Amino acid sequence: MNSNYDITIIGGGIIGLFTAYLASKKFAGANILVVDQNFKPTGATFYSIALDIPYGNSKEIQELSRISRNYFSQLDKIISYKRQKIPFIGITDQNNFKTLTSKFNNSPQYIEKKNLEVKLNQNETVFSKLDAWQSIPYDYLEELKDLIIAEKKVKMLYGLKILAVEKNNTGFVVKTSRGVIINTKNVINAAGPWLLDETWKTEVKKLEVDQIEVKTKKIISYHLPFRFKTGIFLFDHDAFITPKLDTPNESIYSFRSNEYDVKPIVGEITINEKNNKKALELFNTYFPNKLNFNSFSLLEGRCFCDTYSKTPIAKKISKGYIIAGGGSGSGFRLAPGIAEKAISFIQL
Ligand SMILES: Cc1cc2nc3c(=O)[nH]c(=O)nc-3n(C[C@H](O)[C@H](O)[C@H](O)COP(=O)(O)OP(=O)(O)OC[C@H]3O[C@@H](n4cnc5c(N)ncnc54)[C@H](O)[C@@H]3O)c2cc1C
Repeated sequence: MNSNYDITIIGGGIIGLFTAYLASKKFAGANILVVDQNFKPTGATFYSIALDIPYGNSKEIQELSRISRNYFSQLDKIISYKRQKIPFIGITDQNNFKTLTSKFNNSPQYIEKKNLEVKLNQNETVFSKLDAWQSIPYDYLEELKDLIIAEKKVKMLYGLKILAVEKNNTGFVVKTSRGVIINTKNVINAAGPWLLDETWKTEVKKLEVDQIEVKTKKIISYHLPFRFKTGIFLFDHDAFITPKLDTPNESIYSFRSNEYDVKPIVGEITINEKNNKKALELFNTYFPNKLNFNSFSLLEGRCFCDTYSKTPIAKKISKGYIIAGGGSGSGFRLAPGIAEKAISFIQL
């Protein structure tokens, strides 16, 4: 096996794979390697809903969203997996409408408050033309992986954990769980929520000079046994309802848990009673009589964590060493933009 690479990417989640794909386009002829500790994607990407609404709380996120949209549209023409456009309405307080919609890259429009599946309070307003897209994340990831493999420009190693990255005269020495040693000129660390593991903690800490607070955040989405006519985004609560694309007649209900510093250990991050209670209170406010607590608490959902930071991370922390991640629950829709920024720091 060739163990000399120009770029080594840690992590084969959506951000790692987009980084590999875009790097292979930008640096023709470069030796690029992706390494993932698992054989199948089991990170944040696996649990994602992959909803993409083109907005952002800051200009930087709006720009990442715009860039990412372009890449997703380009890939739609190349790969056979098709993302789906979902009719979506947004709900917000009338006083917030202008500020909120100024954060969109398109122009949502007021609609009349009639025949809605959601119960609004007097001050709330409803708008449509959100331009929402969604995909089944693991299917999308597999397609992207197949495309990268077919183009034969990137080598991928699965089931290999990276234990350490050490600097040397020519770049970095990467030590792995099977004793394989990789020499590489550049490293892009896209380890998702594992970025907060002991191994990388010191590196992530270096980001704090830029005032980025990096944590992990628990993200929960419930699976509901019925479909709504449209997707519904409750912007003032950071919660939404959307179709579950891989199961007909089911929906997903996502709400903000506000639980941080959880470890990305499959089976250990679970939905608890406190989450159920909070989620149900909000749900019942907007969709009264659709569910009762007992039936709700028995329903399954998906629950994992993501790297959280106010601004997604695409940062050079030393020459040739870049960290890419921090999607904070938006890392799927922003992945191509984060990836593009990460590789902009590399010079071959
Ligand atoms: C329930 C849920 C719902 C979500 N919904 C949405 C949504 O609707 N829209 C949206 O845009 N985003 C959503 N997100 C967020 C989005 O899924 C994440 O931001 C994104 O998937 C992060 O991608 P990543 O590549 O950084 O991380 P990951 O997908 O976690 O990939 C990191 C990879 O690195 C590998 N790795 C880690 N450490 C090592 C090591 N030492 N050696 C080798 N490999 C390693 C892991 O195995 C993993 O495969 C959601 C997240 C969750 C959990």
